[in-house]
Amino acid sequence: MENGKALVFDIKRFAVHDGSGIRTTVFFKGCGMRCRWCQNPEGLEPKQNAVWLENTCLHCGTCAANALPGQMEFTDGSPRLNHAYAGSFDNLIHACPSGAIRYDSRYYTVEELMAEIRKDEVFFRHGGGVTFSGGEPLLHGPVLVECLKRCREEGIRTAIESALYADTETLKQVIPLVDEFFADFKCADPERHREITGVSNERIKEHLKLVLHDASSVTIRTPLIPDYTASIENISAIAAFLAEQKPDVHYELLNYNELAPAKYPMTGKVYEPGQKKRFSEAEMENFQNAARNQGLINVS
Ligand code: SF4
Repeated sequence: MENGKALVFDIKRFAVHDGSGIRTTVFFKGCGMRCRWCQNPEGLEPKQNAVWLENTCLHCGTCAANALPGQMEFTDGSPRLNHAYAGSFDNLIHACPSGAIRYDSRYYTVEELMAEIRKDEVFFRHGGGVTFSGGEPLLHGPVLVECLKRCREEGIRTAIESALYADTETLKQVIPLVDEFFADFKCADPERHREITGVSNERIKEHLKLVLHDASSVTIRTPLIPDYTASIENISAIAAFLAEQKPDVHYELLNYNELAPAKYPMTGKVYEPGQKKRFSEAEMENFQNAARNQGLINVS
């Protein structure tokens, strides 16, 4: 958040999996967790990064001719941006004739974000709405809260997707303003949670209790990542925690996303789990039954 603006790395229109009906999904940039399988690695850093898009590059060398010392190298007809360079990349972005060098995100004021959201209001009249995702949307409290208030005033239904590793006061402000709350609970064991996400789950569990008790429509999700979250032991422990709080909460197990590793080369990051396979229907049923065995009655 910078001068009343929030950093957004994507606005996806016509989404159908981020809440009821057809959604416009706003992806805020920045997250305090580092899940080793993150599906949106381009949304982790809370700052603008310059990126090079190989598909649109003309290999013309104009960028190299305009580069400042330390900004990039140019080898075999392609630029290699130096992501450790502390200054601006504006000169390269302006010089590139094909738009192959650009920033991965931009800052929005509340007014600018609401203008983007209103472009899709025809869908909002038919059961759709706007979903705030990320990154971690709760890290952008002031802009998020103001957008939620404006949406409510204008009759636009809202949803939020959060991993709940954020400030408690922001969460308390957001809960009554959101129509549908999607929250992750990835791993029940605090030490294992820290190993695979970079943070302990103690604060997340406290926030889950708040959401389960105070939010109006709640779905808790666990992404099933082989060797990380996908074990009967982990799912059973998560389900037992949820059943103790709210046995009729919707608990959703998300099958492994085989497309997740594809984004990593663009960001210069390594996808640690390696390429894995999706779980079969029978395997998914086993996980779901493990959750039901702990007393949850609404598992999918
Ligand atoms: S100026 Fe743009 S199109 Fe030309 S080589 Fe550099 S990145 Fe590619």
